[in-house]
Amino acid sequence: MGKKLIIANWKMNLTVNEASLYVHKLDKLAGKLKHTEVVLAPTMLALQPLNMQVQHHHFNLAAQNFYWRDRGAYTGEVSAAQLRGVVRYGIVGHSERRHIFAERSKDIRSKVQAAVRNNIVPVLCIGETAQERADKETSDVIRDQLVGGLANITSVEVGQIVIAYEPVWSIGTGKFASPRDVERAVKYIRLQVEHLFGKVASEKVRVLYGGSVNPDNAVTYLRIPGVDGLLIGESSLDVYAFANVIKKCETTFSTSAKKGK
Ligand code: PEP
Repeated sequence: MGKKLIIANWKMNLTVNEASLYVHKLDKLAGKLKHTEVVLAPTMLALQPLNMQVQHHHFNLAAQNFYWRDRGAYTGEVSAAQLRGVVRYGIVGHSERRHIFAERSKDIRSKVQAAVRNNIVPVLCIGETAQERADKETSDVIRDQLVGGLANITSVEVGQIVIAYEPVWSIGTGKFASPRDVERAVKYIRLQVEHLFGKVASEKVRVLYGGSVNPDNAVTYLRIPGVDGLLIGESSLDVYAFANVIKKCETTFSTSAKKGK
């Protein structure tokens, strides 16, 4: 079994100094990690200063966003080419980017491709809105967002990326998706990846769950078959809560490893 991947998405929170203090505290609180890969997605400003610090602590960094062209006259943008070597992961298609900043499928697939081209692992976020859920369109949305987001990359590349299933109605709302619904969605994601890119890609691709995850429900989601980790917003801002999630993940999977599960 591979390590569980747990990503903290701080969004537009924490200054560079606060982020650095957080990393220092997290290292002390989390201790040695055997079963968990921890990734922090701070503000773009903090990526470079945190780079050295996180390497020392064996955490990885993710960019919350980037532009898909490598260079040029794009005022205010940061490219995946500029982030190369600074971050290991890049979040793409987060619902806040889709809905607040009107990112379209076309932008998202270009960003996925730009990340891959620049040696950054894209974390492609997909998920249905409350309305789409009420209209029973969850599967259609998942399929469309996968087809739209992955169109520019190869089967081998798909096997190396991360997909985060994040029902939009659960993000930052405290509304919990049921484990049954998450299991069904994750199964459906792998099935679609298999149809589009083959069995190897569908088995290799890592699938995360995100949406109001906290220290109390994290293990429930982590135990769902097919879930390789978590993407956490709000509760990752509290270093104690986030460290708690990591510690619970470590304990859960070291017990499973001992039992040979
Ligand atoms: C997110 O922003 O990706 C997220 C899952 O947020 P939250 O944990 O706050 O729901």
